[in-house]
Amino acid sequence: MAKTREQAQAAREAKLDELHESLTGAVEELVSGPDWARALAFAARFRSRSFNNTLLIWVAHAEAYEQGRVPEPFPSYVAGYKQWQALGRQVEKGQPGYQILAPMTGRFASATPQDAESWRRLSKGEKPRAGEVVRSKMVGVRPAYVWDASQTAGDPIPEPPAPRLLEGEAPAGLWGGLAAQVEAAGFAVLRVPHEGMIHGANGMTDYTANTVAVRENMDPAAQVKTLAHELGHVLLHGPDAEDARQHRGIGEVEAESVALMVGAAHGMDTSGYTIPYVSTWAARVDGKEPVEVVKATGERVRKTALAILDQLDTAQVSDGTPPSQDRDATHRETPAHVRPAPEPAPSRQVASLPEPGARPVPVPAVEGRGL
Ligand SMILES: [Zn+2]
Repeated sequence: MAKTREQAQAAREAKLDELHESLTGAVEELVSGPDWARALAFAARFRSRSFNNTLLIWVAHAEAYEQGRVPEPFPSYVAGYKQWQALGRQVEKGQPGYQILAPMTGRFASATPQDAESWRRLSKGEKPRAGEVVRSKMVGVRPAYVWDASQTAGDPIPEPPAPRLLEGEAPAGLWGGLAAQVEAAGFAVLRVPHEGMIHGANGMTDYTANTVAVRENMDPAAQVKTLAHELGHVLLHGPDAEDARQHRGIGEVEAESVALMVGAAHGMDTSGYTIPYVSTWAARVDGKEPVEVVKATGERVRKTALAILDQLDTAQVSDGTPPSQDRDATHRETPAHVRPAPEPAPSRQVASLPEPGARPVPVPAVEGRGL
C-alpha cells in the first residue's frame, strides 16, 4: 500500500533529521581528532597581522604568483625567515620575501605616570629606577620580510582534512531544478570558466548583482552540489554586509548542510566535502564549540532543504520509498534523456568576494558580500 503524503513527508523529515545528526557526529569526530588538533596547534604559531600588512602580503603574493614563483594565487601560512627555521622549514633559494612593516616598540618609564611629560624612554637593557612604572609603546615601524609556506621546504605542514571535490556525474535533472529555484528567487545563474573569476571559490552568490556563479572546471557532481549550496545562501541569507561578516561561519555551515541534504536525497554522498567544510566554518564562529554551531542550525537547514526538495521534480531517495510513491500526483518521472550536465550559460566577471577555500589557517581574512 502506498504511503499517504503525510506519512511520506514525516518520513522525509525524519530522514533529514537523521542526516543532520550524522553530520553533527562527523563534525565532532573530525574536530576532536589528532589531525585537527595538530593543524590548530600549528596555526596558533602564526601571528595575526594588521590590515595594512595583510594587504601588502596579498599584493606581493599575487605578484609572485603572476611571475610563477608560487603555485597558488592566495597566501597561506606566512612567517619570517627565522620563524620558518624554528618550524623546521627553510626559505628556498631565490625566493624574495614579502616586505611588511613591523612595529617597533620602546620601553618608557615614569615615577609619576599621570604626568604625560614625565615619561622617559629606556635604552636597550636599561632598568627602571626604584618606584618607576614601565610601559611599552609603539615608536615606529621598520621594514621586515615574510615568506609564504609555499616558498619554504622542510618538515611537512600539518593540514586539517581538506574538503574533497565531488567527482562524477550529477543526478538527472537536479541542476535544472535547482537553477529554476535560484532564478525564481530573482538571481541569475552564471557559469564561469574557472575559480580565478570568483576569487578562488567553487561558487559565489552576489547579493548586489543578484547572481549565483558556479565554476565549470570541476565535475558535474561538484557543480550541482555547489549550486545547492548557493541556493541555500539565496534562501537563507541576505545582503546585509555587516550581518554577513558577523555570521559568516554560521551562514557557510547552513548553506553546506542544505547542500548535503539535497545531495543525499539524490543518492549523492557529499560528506568528503561537507564534513571538513562545515567543521572549518563552524570552528570560526566565536564563543561556541563547532558542534554546538552545527546543532543550532539544524531546524533552519532542514526546513530549507525540505522546501527545495518539495519543488524539485527529480527522482529522490530520501526516505527509502521508491520515487513513484514518494511524490504527490503531480510528480512526473524524470525523462531518461535529460542530460545530467548543466546547461551552459554565458559567463561574466562577478565583482564580489569569495566563497573561500576551507582551511582553518590564518589566511589574511578578506571578508565580503560573497556569501
Ligand atoms: Zn558559501
